[in-house]
Amino acid sequence: MLTKLNNLLQLQFKKNIDTCTNEELYIALLMLVKSLSNNRTVTVTKRKLYYISAEFLIGKLLSNNLINLGIYDEINDLLKKHGKNLTDIEEIELEPSLGNGGLGRLAACFLDSIATLELSGDGVGLNYHLGLFKQKFENHLQKETKNEWIQNPSWLNDTKIGFDVQFKDFTLHSHLYDIDVLGYNHGLNKLHLFDLDSVDENIVQGDGISFDLTDIKRNLTLFLYPDDSTREGQILRIYQQYFMVSNAAQLILMEEKAKGHDLRKLHEYVCVQINDTHPSLVIPELIWRLTNEGINFDEAVHIVTNTCAYTNHTILAEALEKWPMDYLQQVVPHLIPIIQKLNDIVAQKSDNEQVQIIDKENRVHMANMDIHFGYSINGVASLHTDILKQSELHSFYELYPEKFNNKTNGITFRRWLIHCNHELSQYITSLIGDDFKQDAMKLENLMQFINDEKVLNHLLQIKMNSKKDLATYLKHTMNVTINPDSIFDIQIKRLHEYKRQQMNLLYITHLILRIRQGYRPTTPITFLFGAKAAPAYVIAKDIIHAILCVQEIIANDPVLSKYIQVVMIENYNVTNAEKLIPACDISEQISLASKEASGTGNMKMMLNGAVTIGTEDGANVEIHELVGDDNIYIFGESSSNVINHYANHDYNANAYYTNDNEIKAAVDFINSPEMAAIGQIDNLNRLHHELCTKDWFMTLLDLKSYIQTKDKAFADYEDRLKWAKMSLTNIAKAGYFSSDRTISEYNHDIWKLN
Ligand SMILES: *Cc1c(COP(=O)(O)O)cnc(C)c1O
Repeated sequence: MLTKLNNLLQLQFKKNIDTCTNEELYIALLMLVKSLSNNRTVTVTKRKLYYISAEFLIGKLLSNNLINLGIYDEINDLLKKHGKNLTDIEEIELEPSLGNGGLGRLAACFLDSIATLELSGDGVGLNYHLGLFKQKFENHLQKETKNEWIQNPSWLNDTKIGFDVQFKDFTLHSHLYDIDVLGYNHGLNKLHLFDLDSVDENIVQGDGISFDLTDIKRNLTLFLYPDDSTREGQILRIYQQYFMVSNAAQLILMEEKAKGHDLRKLHEYVCVQINDTHPSLVIPELIWRLTNEGINFDEAVHIVTNTCAYTNHTILAEALEKWPMDYLQQVVPHLIPIIQKLNDIVAQKSDNEQVQIIDKENRVHMANMDIHFGYSINGVASLHTDILKQSELHSFYELYPEKFNNKTNGITFRRWLIHCNHELSQYITSLIGDDFKQDAMKLENLMQFINDEKVLNHLLQIKMNSKKDLATYLKHTMNVTINPDSIFDIQIKRLHEYKRQQMNLLYITHLILRIRQGYRPTTPITFLFGAKAAPAYVIAKDIIHAILCVQEIIANDPVLSKYIQVVMIENYNVTNAEKLIPACDISEQISLASKEASGTGNMKMMLNGAVTIGTEDGANVEIHELVGDDNIYIFGESSSNVINHYANHDYNANAYYTNDNEIKAAVDFINSPEMAAIGQIDNLNRLHHELCTKDWFMTLLDLKSYIQTKDKAFADYEDRLKWAKMSLTNIAKAGYFSSDRTISEYNHDIWKLN
């Protein structure tokens, strides 16, 4: 390996491992990985999957690829011998900005597992030049800045392949870049990212995010999820979506023709997974292309319906896309007759308004099209799928009970254990061998150590080391000092009212008031937040503002700062998730029951020995079942009660606010003079008003039980051995959440690739 590396360094830079810089070494390692992956053969199975997704939140790739090639330890040792450090070299790599949150991270975990299980399955998406904005904090406010991530050289390989994509007023020629997806020990697939050569980063204004929304040739693959609060913004999203799926369809047909397959049997050889509704236009696009190949319409519909499968990720109404017909008319007029014919087929089948593709306002419901003209629809956790069947999509369930199925999400243990927590991973290996790396259910074997004090103490020590590592990282990157002897209570996820960061904040304001009345926490607590808010989401940004103001109040108060600290991490992403998750003691999963489809952050923290405090929502339900009542902190109203509150319109935030002095005081802290002295009173007032009048996601409903449950968790933390047992149980029971399990279920029930 040393010879290979030195040869590359010699060729590129006329240097060797002892004389090169970290930048040069990073490039040499990148080239080494690429050449080793060229030696792998591309995975082939009878049927091939195309996983189409607007997002792939893949994270940095160097370490993961080294792990999956089986050379991580060898390279790590070799670098050490020559006075180099892999962690420093990893810092050279920029994290790809191709995703937003859980949905994109899921797609990335899935690609890893699909390759590892030696299934033929490629990702298809867009190569956004600036992706999602980079978050900065200025004056306690989120500021969005440009996120330039594409380096040269990079993991992107230029395929020189491109397709013509036809829009109403012009045709654009795409340019395909591929990233190799290496499975663990074996397997090689591709992530196909389509781009456009004419895209121009210079059209972005000085603020880092505004640009001419109508200049499609220059803006098409600039940003992930451009602001869609205007007509132009929505039309741009349709351009992006159609560009993505037309390229996907052309790639699929090109590959099928090259294999000599009969397109009339496309469904026997190809499966398309539609990840959320963004790729839904692939259905009319494939029908259009098949009819252009001489296949009649009905047969094309039959073929496509047996090729496409849809994953639903949310029951939040605003997230289920419906495009006005005249917008589609303006971008892809050639698909309109097809969508209308599909709508006619549905109208013949059912007169139920809820299941029509085109509604009375002439809007096209993308999810509805997916369900009628796909052969599978799945939810992403057991509770979520039940809610889809029983309420949200009940009318569809009555039409097609056989199409509905559940696939509880999972995470790849290669990244979320082996890579991000070497010490824990190695210790587990020393206890039960390394079978768990192939078969995650083997982690159960850890339960034999549940009363072994030596093991329990060692686990506590590993957690302490991870907390120290996080402290060092935060000092280095943000210049903040945190105390590793404190309890690390962590809430990291997109900022959304349903995820209820505001409830966590109200616990903290409540605690501030108690400390001022003389209460003293036994062990200090560090509350860590990480979250980006959508640039146009006003209340979400107000919540960030309030958290940052509380952070400062505590930091400036000599008494409070002895017992508590709040740190909001700037620019939460995969890279800092990998540092935060191993260090987590308490995992905050406090969404309003029924609103979080699954969550995957909950699984990552469990796997790293954190104990969850959460509502009976998403995959928390399944975590609860696996670890039992004693190893999780569950609180709050059930999803069925919450659903009833919405149905009956009987939740009254103001009653909770006025009737309970503790709640009132915690809420009133938000726009108190003390907060106003630091922050912006308009923002603070707006958040205060929202909480005690509308509170659409029912923060105050669960606040009381949240406070009690969290107090109990902090008290339990004092019994270190008891806590270590809870931690061990969580690790041991996490095997179910391996994305290898999820993917084998997708393959067994939906894809049937081999
Ligand atoms: C796992 C992950 C998420 C999803 O977190 P949830 O708590 O499930 O919403 C979002 N962002 C990043 C960077 C992640 O790694």
